[in-house]
Amino acid sequence: MMIDNANVKYVSGARADYLMFPALEKYPELGAAFAVRGTKGYHYEPISEEANYAGIAAELGVPIDSLTMPFQSHTANVAECREDAKEYKDTDGLVTDLRNRVLCTKVADCVSLLFYDPINHAIGNIHSGWRGTLQKIATNGLRKMVELYETDASELVCVICPSIRQDHFEIDKDVHELFKEAYPQIINGITLQKGTKYHVDTVRCNTWLLEQEGVKAENIIDTGLCTVCHSDLINSFRGNIEGEKQFRNLAMIWLKDK
Ligand SMILES: [Zn+2]
Repeated sequence: MMIDNANVKYVSGARADYLMFPALEKYPELGAAFAVRGTKGYHYEPISEEANYAGIAAELGVPIDSLTMPFQSHTANVAECREDAKEYKDTDGLVTDLRNRVLCTKVADCVSLLFYDPINHAIGNIHSGWRGTLQKIATNGLRKMVELYETDASELVCVICPSIRQDHFEIDKDVHELFKEAYPQIINGITLQKGTKYHVDTVRCNTWLLEQEGVKAENIIDTGLCTVCHSDLINSFRGNIEGEKQFRNLAMIWLKDK
């Protein structure tokens, strides 16, 4: 497949298409995938698309009821996925050390960050759209793992899923001002100005946040894929044909049975 690179492998299954990450595949206890549109138009929406959820679950060999999804609402809130919790309202990130719970986030152009602590056997899945990036949810997610599982940031492995990239993430001055306030230390490095418009590198914002907490740059694995540039295969809001219903991809990470 044409979107393969050193950090991404495209898998076209009978019931779902998805990306795999070689950097995570080397850990036998870990599962991770990013389910995409593919040529068959798969997508992951609440309630209505049970068939697609069943398809990706079957492809990956996980029970459909192990898929655990927060009710994302562009907050900076990260919750622990527990056996007894049924709903995760106003939650945009989940962490856990439970096995056989597939932590999911649904994204079209937003950044999903997949966290793995190979020492303490804990994981996280963080939805960091531009609002979440402004609120620094990546930092919250990592700190939650430090607090709950004694994660050492220098051991954390993070995969950055496909998202809208700087080339296509065009914003106006008012939103750029918010990035300026949130990221004064790196604002020049993350900004490209094109006429009256601004392009911000939200991936860099997130990697910078993680590095500030002690995550090693070499442990941050970026798929490098822009959802808009690859909207033929990856669901994208901004890359969608006008008038067409907008659908999302599913970022997934889980700990397998021992
Ligand atoms: Zn692009």
